[in-house]
Amino acid sequence: MGPDNVLAALDPEQREVAEAVRGPVCVLAGAGTGKTRAITHRIAHAVHSGVVDAQGVLAVTFTTRAAGELRQRLRQLGTPGVQARTFHAAALRQLTYFWPRVIGGDPPRVIESKLPLLIDACRSLRRNQDRSELRDIASEIEWAKVTQIAPEDYAEAAKKAGRTSPVAPEEVFRLYEAYENLRRERHLVDFETILELTAAVMTEHREVASQIRQQYRYFVVDEYQDVNPLQKLLLDTWLGGRDDLCVVGDPNQTIYSFTGATPRYLTGFSVEHPNATVIKLVRDYRSTPQVVSLANRVLDRARTPHKLALIAQRPDGPEPVFTEYDDETAEAEGVARAVRKLVGGGVPTREIAVLFRVNAQSEAYEQAFAKAGLPYVLRGADRFFERPEVRQAVVLLRGAARSAEPGDTLASTVHHILSGIGLTPEAPGGGKAREKWESLKALADLAEDLAATGADLPAFVAELERRAGEQHAPPVEGVTLASLHAAKGLEWDAVFLVGVTEGMLPIIYAETLDQIEEERRLLYVGVTRARAHLGLSWALARSPGGRRSRKPSRFLDGLTGRSAQKSRAAAPASSASSADRRQVAAPISCRVCGKTLAAAAEQKLGRCAGCPADYDEALLDALKSWRTGVAKHEKIPQWAIF
Ligand code: ATP
Ligand code: MG
Repeated sequence: MGPDNVLAALDPEQREVAEAVRGPVCVLAGAGTGKTRAITHRIAHAVHSGVVDAQGVLAVTFTTRAAGELRQRLRQLGTPGVQARTFHAAALRQLTYFWPRVIGGDPPRVIESKLPLLIDACRSLRRNQDRSELRDIASEIEWAKVTQIAPEDYAEAAKKAGRTSPVAPEEVFRLYEAYENLRRERHLVDFETILELTAAVMTEHREVASQIRQQYRYFVVDEYQDVNPLQKLLLDTWLGGRDDLCVVGDPNQTIYSFTGATPRYLTGFSVEHPNATVIKLVRDYRSTPQVVSLANRVLDRARTPHKLALIAQRPDGPEPVFTEYDDETAEAEGVARAVRKLVGGGVPTREIAVLFRVNAQSEAYEQAFAKAGLPYVLRGADRFFERPEVRQAVVLLRGAARSAEPGDTLASTVHHILSGIGLTPEAPGGGKAREKWESLKALADLAEDLAATGADLPAFVAELERRAGEQHAPPVEGVTLASLHAAKGLEWDAVFLVGVTEGMLPIIYAETLDQIEEERRLLYVGVTRARAHLGLSWALARSPGGRRSRKPSRFLDGLTGRSAQKSRAAAPASSASSADRRQVAAPISCRVCGKTLAAAAEQKLGRCAGCPADYDEALLDALKSWRTGVAKHEKIPQWAIF
């Protein structure tokens, strides 16, 4: 897109964002309103009009995929060369560059997971190593580090912050301390330390700070509602008192506060920067009015001061479909059938996503999709280049490249090596084996693509290493299976939100009202990922013939709510192909008493005219009955979140 069209492709408010070329600028707006679009166009406009060089821009976002998309959008706008990175990637590059110059020696090695070090810390303290407990401890250490809390202050701070870790605070403190000692001894850095050290090196070495600040003059942060105190510290250090900063975010999409993120930097932006230009966007360009209406109703029930209701811009589409299944297998098979139907109707698989609360839920879908012959991509689990099979493959390929005996073609050499570690001609069923196969197949496909450009094995390995550095997975076509957390910022034509039950969404260990509200925001994030087709489903039992002990999520009350259950009882006998499911239309019920609302005015209000506006009592009641009704053995470990 040429410089002239950059502004033409925006609505008046988005244009205002793009034309506010000098910071501080804050865009506070709901999902799908074009925040990400506005910032990419703003950067392009600033570069085209000579306000800043492309190299002087640092655009920061939260996931590698989102950073990749930012870069792609910027390239399409004729602005290649802009640095669009995650906080970690940007910091790591700077740290790696300056370390040998100012500290000396090799930079520390990055660890992706805290677990191996924590296991050693346990050994040093002669403590048991229960794996799920270790994951809980790792989350607590992460929280403490992003909140800048030293080990000795952990117990008090955790109590004050209302952390609900099942591990005793004194235990966490001892392990946190041992973990940090081991980490330093072994010259390792975890994600939080990367940010901490980058900020510290800049603070202690003025020449480093001035070099970085000379390079980056123009800062943009997407998804600012999920910035944590450590990221904020680094951002402030990068800025060094300057204010060419543009942030965009949606407080109703804060979904990482359990790790220490907070929307207060977003909502307090104009207090921190009294000269800020604050712009709100309300038009939703992503979703049909039917999806937008559901999203607004989800938000209506949220305890949020930022209602940010969305106004749909797209033409009508299908109504969201709510489906109850007897068990999880039936649910996964039902979703696979619905996906097949969409694909048959011309929706490409890459435009379809199945979103769930915890990664462990993907298993049933992997099985069902493999059985139905539907390609799928699992996102948000291990990063591609961190997967054991990919690491193993890269080591073998690197070795082969060094020995690099001529003769075979690149594709057949790679195939030969990969088949030695599990790449078969046929894809295996589901689960881990399938996941491993998909990773190896992706490597083989990439080799074929590169071979077509004349690349040899060393060139292929160099490309893998470049991608590993950037954490870029080779693109694989297929239905996306992802956790709700991993789906942030993304969009698909069709989205299936599955497992919408009490215990899953909200997740069973969400106890406090704040935690429950974060779960509700996850539902909002999920709903707003859909452009047109949206399915929400749940299963009453875990496995076929199992006890039907599950209940639909409380968040569905008033969306399908009690009336959905009534319709279910009255549902006509289903057809043979869908004997296990009942589809339910989505009548609007009162969010306080649950009665179906017939009057349009009441529907708009979301409650009966006679019911109190303040529904905290109802929320509390629901919480009480949910707590007592939940079987303890169903506890889902915290590590299963992503
Ligand atoms: P989220 O909160 O989920 O991150 P967002 O506010 O960043 O959403 P975008 O992803 O920028 O929203 O935009 C949503 C969709 O709407 C994209 O497909 C984008 O291209 C499209 N869009 C945004 N603004 C416009 C516009 N003015 N005209 C046409 N399409 C638009
Ligand atoms: Mg966005």
